[in-house]
Amino acid sequence: MVVYGKAGRLEGRLKPCFCFRRLAGNVGYNGCMIYHHIALNVPLAGGLLTYAHPEALSAGTRVAVRFVNKTVAGIVWQSGITPDIDPAKILPLQAVFAEEPPLPEAWRRLLAFAARYYHYPLGQAVAAALPQGLREARPVALPEPPLFYSLTEAGRLNAPPERHRKQYALWQAMCGGRLEMAALKKINPQAPKLIGQWQAQAWINADAAALPVLRPSEHILNEQQQAASAHIQAAFGRFQPFLLYGITGSGKTEVYFDAVAKVLAEGRQVLFLLPEINLTPQLLKRVQARFADVPTAVLHSQTAAGARTQDYLRAMLGQAKLIIGTRLAVFTPLADVGLIVVDEEHDGSFKQENELRYQARDLAVWRAQQAACPIVLGSATPSLESWHKAQSGAYTLLELGARARAAAALPQVDVLDVRRLPLDNGFSAPALKLLQDNFKQGGMSLVYLNRRGFSPALFCSDCGRTFGCPRCSAKMVLHRRARQLRCHHCDYRQAVPYKCPDCGNQDLTAVGQGTQRVEETLRTMLPGARIERVDRDSTAHKNDWAALYQRIGADEIDILVGTQMLAKGHDFARLNLVVVLNADGSLYSADFRAPERLFAELMQVSGRAGRADAPGRVLIQTQLPEHGVFAAIKAQDYRCFADAELAERRLFGLPPFGFQAAIRADALDIRAALQFLQEMKEGLAAQLPESVAQMGPAPMLMVRLAERERAQLFLEAPSRKDLHHALALWGQALAQARAHKIRWSVDVDPQEV
Ligand code: ADP
Ligand code: ZN
Repeated sequence: MVVYGKAGRLEGRLKPCFCFRRLAGNVGYNGCMIYHHIALNVPLAGGLLTYAHPEALSAGTRVAVRFVNKTVAGIVWQSGITPDIDPAKILPLQAVFAEEPPLPEAWRRLLAFAARYYHYPLGQAVAAALPQGLREARPVALPEPPLFYSLTEAGRLNAPPERHRKQYALWQAMCGGRLEMAALKKINPQAPKLIGQWQAQAWINADAAALPVLRPSEHILNEQQQAASAHIQAAFGRFQPFLLYGITGSGKTEVYFDAVAKVLAEGRQVLFLLPEINLTPQLLKRVQARFADVPTAVLHSQTAAGARTQDYLRAMLGQAKLIIGTRLAVFTPLADVGLIVVDEEHDGSFKQENELRYQARDLAVWRAQQAACPIVLGSATPSLESWHKAQSGAYTLLELGARARAAAALPQVDVLDVRRLPLDNGFSAPALKLLQDNFKQGGMSLVYLNRRGFSPALFCSDCGRTFGCPRCSAKMVLHRRARQLRCHHCDYRQAVPYKCPDCGNQDLTAVGQGTQRVEETLRTMLPGARIERVDRDSTAHKNDWAALYQRIGADEIDILVGTQMLAKGHDFARLNLVVVLNADGSLYSADFRAPERLFAELMQVSGRAGRADAPGRVLIQTQLPEHGVFAAIKAQDYRCFADAELAERRLFGLPPFGFQAAIRADALDIRAALQFLQEMKEGLAAQLPESVAQMGPAPMLMVRLAERERAQLFLEAPSRKDLHHALALWGQALAQARAHKIRWSVDVDPQEV
């Protein structure tokens, strides 16, 4: 790609918006200009534009260029290219941020791969991977290499008087070892001044970061933990992916920590990815508490922009050794990575659902391979993709069998068939009785509502028959007003049958309804109980969570009512009863991953019960008791669930046995979106590899979003190669499409269908 500019005029208009090495680029000057491909944040398929500069620049250098009357930041992708247009029309660079070290080659390879794999413009992928400070056309301040301060012999002998408490505290802390200025300032805000004075007295040594100081672990690892850690350590220095599988509380985190400590002790870096959940701050705290003296970079969406830029640079310069963050942290440039950890690897938040639609776990594996280091994916309920790889031997399976603390027993899980039970706003009589008894005995309960992917499905309350699409593997969704069953995968539609085709029962009902007034029902049934509802509205702010934890800790809550948001996270010590009201909601949605998610959620929510010394109980109400997911939950047997579910996926050629991509389009009117996709589909049908199926287009389950209406089409293929070939053809066609007011996107390996 090239930029044609009326360069002469531009030159005349340029105002220096910053004074940092602005270059007297001369467009008429073509004696010895060197042409560069620059990655810019523009929606062009190639994503690279050509600019000229008198000197060759290293790839990865940040620069500023003119683009459509604005000065924007870009990254040199290649130098010394041969332009394919008249060189006189190529604009010069505006500025080169030569003081900044270039973004490393491994990072550029990662971005090139991500852009290619996810069919996204390279320049925009690069912008998505950079923190805000590096997306701006201004130089950034580079972080100072950390200095560590310690007392000399003389310093130790010269304790400040104890009555100067703050000075004394500083001195005392330094008696304990070397500390960074940031840590010293926390002890005494006057630290910079005092340290300066003491340095003048020769009481202080300041030295650059050597190997980080590591604290010993609180625990002695049990045999299984030791074995797992030893396997990981044996892979240091080469690529080997591990799946660390163990139920919640089995001690996975301690295994990561042990391996992490070994890498840090060698002075190498660790990338530690966590899911993006409300409890991320708590999880971060645990990691930071264990590695308190290790220079750490924290990168997640709530980190302030300035801090994120600095942490990004500290990681890139090798100053930060432990890099912790959520999915976006997978793009952090790393000087010398020795280990990657992905905790809760099954979690949906590793998938970015807009713009560059990447799966951070998958990119992390790719990175580990490039960097020749081991990667540990950990979970109590691994994604079926990862489990399949562990079964096939592509990943090494490490397993932790029991809970690490002997006292913490597994909860007792019961599945209650409520098909013929009267329900009071969703509650069966046995569920209410359990809640009442537990309240009387002073226990804490959680009433859990399954809201995710909720879609009404038709179901026979007599024989349990459900309605799958006759044309594909998806379940059909009930559209009451249209009196239709619709497949949101291939758009097959049929009228709602008036009786069950299997048993003739005329009482066909919708699955999973009637939980609107849970809270009121509880208040009526348990007048004395302190009930707290937790949902998106009641926890809109970060502080609400902290407040909630405090109240739980202070024993101020008897019954928590909530959704998915409550499933993950920390121990609620007193919680010993979980009642799941409408487990089925998502099971018969069109989404083939719904059982996998439900299983993970129910395992997680069950894991909440009885983590302290009292064993817990879990009661799951369902209208679909025969569904395999419940037998597996009752037995708390992931293996049995995963093997059955994988067998089914194999049968239908679904991931991980087949490969998918979604092409989505939205418009003000659904008909326009559908028509756009339909026309593209027909236009491309003859060119696509034969093995690639085009399913749809169909309206999305949630058709309307932000005043637009959405449709999607799936490409499905037995091989990744064919899928990507088809996507490349789609990509070209989309780029040329001149559709009015239609937006489109490509989602490779989509998680939401
Ligand atoms: P997971 O990450 O699998 O959920 P954790 O590592 O958080 O499990 O461990 C669960 C609990 O058991 C924690 O409170 C942890 O401190 C404790 N724990 C872990 N390993 C050991 C061990 N070897 N000895 C004693 N307690 C342990
Ligand atoms: Zn279908």
